[in-house]
Amino acid sequence: MSKQPPAIGIDLGTTFSVVAMLNEAGQPETLVNAEGDRLTPSLVLFDNDQVIVGKEALKALATEAEWVAECAKRDIGHRVFHKAIGGKQYPPEVIEAFILNKLRVDTTARIGDYEKVVITVPAYFDEVRRKATQDAGYMAGFEVMDIINEPTAAAIAFGYQKGFLSRDGFPHKPEIILVYDLGGGTFDVTVMELHGREFRALATDGDVRLGGFDWDQRLVDLVAEAFARQHFLDPREDARAAGKLWRECEEAKRTLSVRPKTFVPVDFMGRTARIEVTRQQFEEATQDLLDRTRFTTEQTLRAAGLTWEKVDRVLLVGGATRMPMVREMLRKLSGLEPDASVEADEAVAHGAALHAGLLLAKSQGKPRLFKIKNVNSHSLGVVGIDPLTKRRRNGIVIPRNTPLPTTARRIFRTQKDNQRSILVEVVEGESPSADDCTLIGRCSVRNLPPGLPAKSPVHVYFHYHPNGRLKVRVEVPNTHAKIETEFKRENSLPKEHLDGWRKYICGKDPTDYT
Ligand code: AMP
Repeated sequence: MSKQPPAIGIDLGTTFSVVAMLNEAGQPETLVNAEGDRLTPSLVLFDNDQVIVGKEALKALATEAEWVAECAKRDIGHRVFHKAIGGKQYPPEVIEAFILNKLRVDTTARIGDYEKVVITVPAYFDEVRRKATQDAGYMAGFEVMDIINEPTAAAIAFGYQKGFLSRDGFPHKPEIILVYDLGGGTFDVTVMELHGREFRALATDGDVRLGGFDWDQRLVDLVAEAFARQHFLDPREDARAAGKLWRECEEAKRTLSVRPKTFVPVDFMGRTARIEVTRQQFEEATQDLLDRTRFTTEQTLRAAGLTWEKVDRVLLVGGATRMPMVREMLRKLSGLEPDASVEADEAVAHGAALHAGLLLAKSQGKPRLFKIKNVNSHSLGVVGIDPLTKRRRNGIVIPRNTPLPTTARRIFRTQKDNQRSILVEVVEGESPSADDCTLIGRCSVRNLPPGLPAKSPVHVYFHYHPNGRLKVRVEVPNTHAKIETEFKRENSLPKEHLDGWRKYICGKDPTDYT
């Protein structure tokens, strides 16, 4: 009998990444990296021919910031990373692949070879970002069995911890949980219903460019301005000094979570200072960031059709929820004591490992221990032209927060006799104007059967998988025509590039499981 592959879950975070595995008893455990740490900083240092990921890269931020790629997750879905490194432009998913590769190599040294993994993404990630994350996994030498949403993974870890998932789990009534997830670079809020072993998302929203990193930035500004008032010099103007200051401020932010004040050492152009920062100053300087999360939280609850009285628990996930201002705000809003019982940094990876275990068991025909029901975080639409204004409009086909999987059909009509092709542009977003939405890709329908009269119907089916990934299928009614549909994605690396990077990053040959 072949050996059962390990159940591995990866939380690929903006600032830190974590790998977890189910042990023999089926319990999730964090795997340590080569340095012996549970958390691997998600930074990449390009040092001549060498690519160094993790702690060393984080240290290098203070001395050679121009060679370090940080927060690549924030740029995922864009064509290139926001800064050129050594004059080279990298796609963000390639930087993510280097991080994943380090996690693979380090954990392989401990548990042996494996390929199948589950990777987590913010619930608010759109289709393009989900695809890019899967591609990063492929380039790092993994077979990505699935991607799941971080808040869902956290809720699974929570359910596991509470015994909901054990075979003799005690009977209980449905519980409404609001998962507030403030990580290093992203913010997600998801309202879930936990019923027995079913985890059902009711609504989700968030901001892919809001996280602890923004709080750091405010502290950097606060400290740099205080230093500038004393010495008429601004450490932010020099990349190295700014990198060092950023590290000091991130440390100081953590201290301010437990103390009312702290000092940040600054050393720039021969001048030194110890700048005092109080928690109150820090909170005032970041109040608007917190307000943005409050606004989104309330909006998500409304989208789920609920009020605070219906919420049984507010679950805190992500390192930045350790800030007292977050807890205080949620306490006031909900009237509940926020639940920090899941390990903020590791719960997501643990939930992903439990999900990986579920998928492996399913592939062997074993019963499923729990069920996940997801919703889409963005509306899916097709571009049409407004006959009056001639503007490009977003015709929504699948509204946001629709339970997944789902399939929607849209009927297009040919415009002239014997038309052989149709181009369908697919967008994600809420705006009625197509240009304000994210273009996912263009679906060109070719080889329509010859001789179709004008105005013949062409059915286009959009199928959203439970993980938020999209498939498109086309049919012409009353014909058996096999129609070629090519979904050409925007900002997505072609298969040859993925294969080339895979070979370069992990030395593995191409496979067809992208
Ligand atoms: P995550 O992506 O969930 O690992 O969250 C990382 C973010 O949490 C980073 O911005 C950290 O600076 C932040 N963080 C971790 N611990 C603390 C703490 N004790 N107080 C404030 N922020 C923290």
